[in-house]
Amino acid sequence: MFEALKREAWAANQLLPQYGLISLTFGNASVVDRDRGVVAIKPSGVAYADLQPEDMVLVDLDGRAVGHGSLRPSSDTPTHVCLYRAFPLVRAVVHTHSRAATAFAQAEMAIPCLGTTHADYFRGEIPVTEPLLPAQIDGDYEWETGNAIVARFASLDPSERPGVLVARHGPFAWGPDGARAAESAFAMELLAEMALATLRLRPDSSPMPSTLMERHFSRKHGGTAYYGQGPRA
Ligand SMILES: [Zn+2]
Repeated sequence: MFEALKREAWAANQLLPQYGLISLTFGNASVVDRDRGVVAIKPSGVAYADLQPEDMVLVDLDGRAVGHGSLRPSSDTPTHVCLYRAFPLVRAVVHTHSRAATAFAQAEMAIPCLGTTHADYFRGEIPVTEPLLPAQIDGDYEWETGNAIVARFASLDPSERPGVLVARHGPFAWGPDGARAAESAFAMELLAEMALATLRLRPDSSPMPSTLMERHFSRKHGGTAYYGQGPRA
């Protein structure tokens, strides 16, 4: 049951250390089966090198266990479920503590859109959430983390910005499948590194001109995209 879903989630989790996004056991990836309302997610606290596809834990979109697995799901599972419920086009979610993106999150700074590498992935800055309030932290913390992300996207399109920084915490990214969610997380880290370097060279760097930003974003995304070899399957 759900073998293909578990394998896709496992493969997305394997990409995170391959992309250099993981220290210790921080981070997790999940994939949802929209038709059946089931999420496959990394088990809590298991080293990436030891993960097997069958170790992926299944939960429904209320966060309840599906089946009789012996492993507990990632402690961040409520955040993933919250995002799946709020963002219908998202099929996979990735969370890491990759260093440069986490530095921006800890500084409570959005990653500014400074050049075309950024605009190829994100239509504008990578936003940062509001800090969680004490009542949210003391309450259902991981669910409230999801709520903070959803609130930040009230007037933003998650398909135009496939990731966010949670204030004082780190990046969450998403995509239409596991591989592309992991790619979004990797892109966020690269863009954070480039922004840090740019701001070190020139602390008063301004966001790139919107004409150039829009040109680059639309080359790769939406109905007028023309980059590459046509739509990916
Ligand atoms: Zn975390």
